[in-house]
Amino acid sequence: MGRVVWDQGPRRSAPSGGLDRQWDLLHLPSRSRYMPALRDLMGQTFGRITVVSLLPERSKNGKTQWRCRCSCGEWAPCVIGTDLTTGNTRSCGCLQKEVATRSLVKQTTHGLSGKSGNSHYTRWVGIKQRTTNPNAANYHNYGGRGIFMHHTWIEAGKGFERFKWYLDTVLGPCPEGMSLDRKDNDQGYEPGNLQWATQSQQLGNRRTSL
Ligand SMILES: [Zn+2]
Repeated sequence: MGRVVWDQGPRRSAPSGGLDRQWDLLHLPSRSRYMPALRDLMGQTFGRITVVSLLPERSKNGKTQWRCRCSCGEWAPCVIGTDLTTGNTRSCGCLQKEVATRSLVKQTTHGLSGKSGNSHYTRWVGIKQRTTNPNAANYHNYGGRGIFMHHTWIEAGKGFERFKWYLDTVLGPCPEGMSLDRKDNDQGYEPGNLQWATQSQQLGNRRTSL
């Protein structure tokens, strides 16, 4: 077992970093009254978790429990050993929170909610590119011949929200097999000139759409 030390419960103040280990060595009993751990996890790191000491009590189903510290600075006061070795527990809980926040941010940054929001954003980016970026592959068919996106939709920050609002509210959901189309091919991407259309309707009419 070697370096296993025994935990005596919460401390008045938690020393930080490497001092924990020294504190353990100095203050915990040298001879154990407890059942030893089957596997010594002392000092090992699992994801963000570093094992600090063995808890005196086993879990209800007889598993060893460890007091751990997370790299974020939080304590994980009671972690079952097998949760560490199987990769079940890799942080004090901060990791899950971060992942959840990240995906939430991803969804809300552009007002995206599921598939429809996503494709609206793809549409918006595509239109913006081909009407404003001279390096875009098909710019010559759009910006290059005076086809622009309505200025309130281009605007940084609120532009996409307005564009999405217009599509959702005025045009409604995109019917299966249709895509965004301009009614008048010589007018821009602007309120009043957009509709959902099938590919063949669009081909009969004009150049292209998204
Ligand atoms: Zn943490």
